[in-house]
Amino acid sequence: MITPYNVQQTAVIGAGTMGRGIVISLARAGFAVLWLDNDPSATEAGLAMIAQTWAQQVAKGRIDKAEADACLARVRQVTAYADLAEVDLVIEAVYENLALKQDIFRTLDSTLQAHAILASNTSALDIDAIAAVTRRPEQVLGLHFFSPAHVMKLLEVVRGARTSPAVLHAAQALGQRMGKQVVVAGNCPGFIGNRMLATYVAEARKLLLEGATPRQVDEALQAFGMAMGPLRMYDVVGIDLEWRARQLAGKGMDAPLVQVDNALCALGRFGQKTGQGYYRYAPGSREALHDPEVDALVLKIAQDLGVHRRVIDDEEIRERCLLALVNEGAKILEASMASCSADIDRVYLYGYGFPAEVGGPMRWADQQGLGLLLARLERLQGLFGEHWRPAGLLMRLVAEGKQLADVREGRA
Ligand code: NAD
Repeated sequence: MITPYNVQQTAVIGAGTMGRGIVISLARAGFAVLWLDNDPSATEAGLAMIAQTWAQQVAKGRIDKAEADACLARVRQVTAYADLAEVDLVIEAVYENLALKQDIFRTLDSTLQAHAILASNTSALDIDAIAAVTRRPEQVLGLHFFSPAHVMKLLEVVRGARTSPAVLHAAQALGQRMGKQVVVAGNCPGFIGNRMLATYVAEARKLLLEGATPRQVDEALQAFGMAMGPLRMYDVVGIDLEWRARQLAGKGMDAPLVQVDNALCALGRFGQKTGQGYYRYAPGSREALHDPEVDALVLKIAQDLGVHRRVIDDEEIRERCLLALVNEGAKILEASMASCSADIDRVYLYGYGFPAEVGGPMRWADQQGLGLLLARLERLQGLFGEHWRPAGLLMRLVAEGKQLADVREGRA
């Protein structure tokens, strides 16, 4: 029997991009929210921004004024951890740095009442390493929202090794009350969505070095139905986010595949927000324009890395990017990092702009026929090397005549 949690008073640490969206979502769902940032001017700017968001929603007729006022009244800025003593659940959304998050969790653990749940919005850090600095690891988990958090429907609830069933249940209920599509993910690097995305983006980056242009990569995948190609997506999200994370972590800067991103960031080309990234943007416009400077930069880096350049066709772009996604999804399923293939599909439909009519990457794989898909992976393995080795699960399913949709908790 799981004793249900009664989450009423919440708190958010961090008033940046994610903190703001999370506060809006919590308050909209009726939760009281205390908001803390070590820079009080960030919280003040955050409060002004969320007031403006609600005012816009009133102007558009989406909510009435009384509702907007009630939402705003639920949010209160605080400046000390002692003010958080009575909260039931806190969501941390500060910079992506393990030591910083551990520091904050230590403080939360020593300040918050015993039953409080401590959650991190980390995109990729190890939840167990965060939980380990507290005396309540069974009450620690990841709540991975997507940007902007008040708009994006997906919420990955990341289960740590010691997260209790009651806490997991409370987090799922919270997400549902916030109107999210809640998917429980295991604690592996990148969880479900970003772990798969890493393999997909790696292929996009390789294709660029091997001879494709950013527009060609993006358009080939958009023609498949993706809401946005991967390089355009990096421009929208900000190429600098991962670059800064690499710098903060002091690792990963030398990897060949991030050299183009590093070079773009060194030039201050962070993406749409700076008017230049993989594309260039006219002032005030979101239209991604081809930039010959990027082609020259990619060519130079490919030459420095000794990459053989050739003509790449759109079919190869789709084959490599989509099969990378599927193969990693199968590994995630095999390791029980997702409980079923439909959960992986929901992650991609609600968090990553996968075409709804296709139904998700795993469903797509099943529709292709796993036998055929396996042969295609083996072909890529022969051409490009071991990282294409098909997931053991795929081989097993083909041998048994089963589908990815038949798998539950790692077993078919
Ligand atoms: P951000 O840089 O916009 O904001 C971070 C905020 O944390 C800043 O306001 C900063 O003042 C505050 N902060 C820093 N140190 C603090 C401390 N010691 N105490 C209190 N506040 C502190 O960052 P973001 O983009 O909102 O990302 C926050 C977290 O969310 C990261 O872990 C990130 O990986 C994750 N995330 C980001 C995205 C995204 O697309 N931006 C998506 C999903 C998850």
